[in-house]
Amino acid sequence: MKNATSTALTVAGFDPSGGAGLQADLKTFSAFGVSGKSVATSITIQNTVGVEGIHNISPEVVEQQLKAILTDGKPDAVKTGMLGNELIVETVVRLLRRYRIKKIVVDPVIYSSSGKSLLSLAGIQAMKKELLPITFLLTPNLNETEILSGVKIRQPSDRIRAARALIKMGAKNILIKGGHLKGKPQDFFFDGKRSLCLNADRVAGGDVHGTGCTLASAITAGLAKGKSTVVAVKEAKEFIGL
Ligand code: PLP
Repeated sequence: MKNATSTALTVAGFDPSGGAGLQADLKTFSAFGVSGKSVATSITIQNTVGVEGIHNISPEVVEQQLKAILTDGKPDAVKTGMLGNELIVETVVRLLRRYRIKKIVVDPVIYSSSGKSLLSLAGIQAMKKELLPITFLLTPNLNETEILSGVKIRQPSDRIRAARALIKMGAKNILIKGGHLKGKPQDFFFDGKRSLCLNADRVAGGDVHGTGCTLASAITAGLAKGKSTVVAVKEAKEFIGL
């Protein structure tokens, strides 16, 4: 087997159906030839129909997992997904700061595709206050964009206002995933200066949970390999077929 030189870490929830969360991320890292590590934040009980239960892992155990991995060699990039509550958000931020991780892709998972809450209200506040200031790339969908930025998105032109608000909160780059606005879905990228509209296709019906996880982990893999942000985003979109 070829030696995978780049490494990426995912900090996310466990989905026993394998569609989202840790397994989806590790499969994606592997498809990009990146060596993957994973830290579990929550055990979800779910299948392709929906989420039946959530058991968040204690922040002490999240911290121990992170320490074990981060003392063992710094990953080239880190992705965060479902974080569950404010204690886990704060623990993850503290450790990523302590180990000076810079390439941090944050998929701000707030609801499952089936509508179940995956992050507490206090967790959302902690994400805004603590996690966004160390975020290299934030990948919210439209709903997450509205919740985090406080900007209502009624038309495509509202996205720049929301992206500016998120940059002001500390994130360096924003990729707002389209999909729920009328008309052709489009992803919107903003790095604080330059904005870019990227065409997207509507994901066909059926079970689509995990699409957001896969996109964010594909971008993380590209960043781990040293690609520029825009190239990593474009290649990740190609990978998931959007
Ligand atoms: N992370 C976990 C553990 C999940 O269970 C889910 C959705 O069910 C998500 C993340 C979000 O997935 P999506 O990629 O559909 O936004």
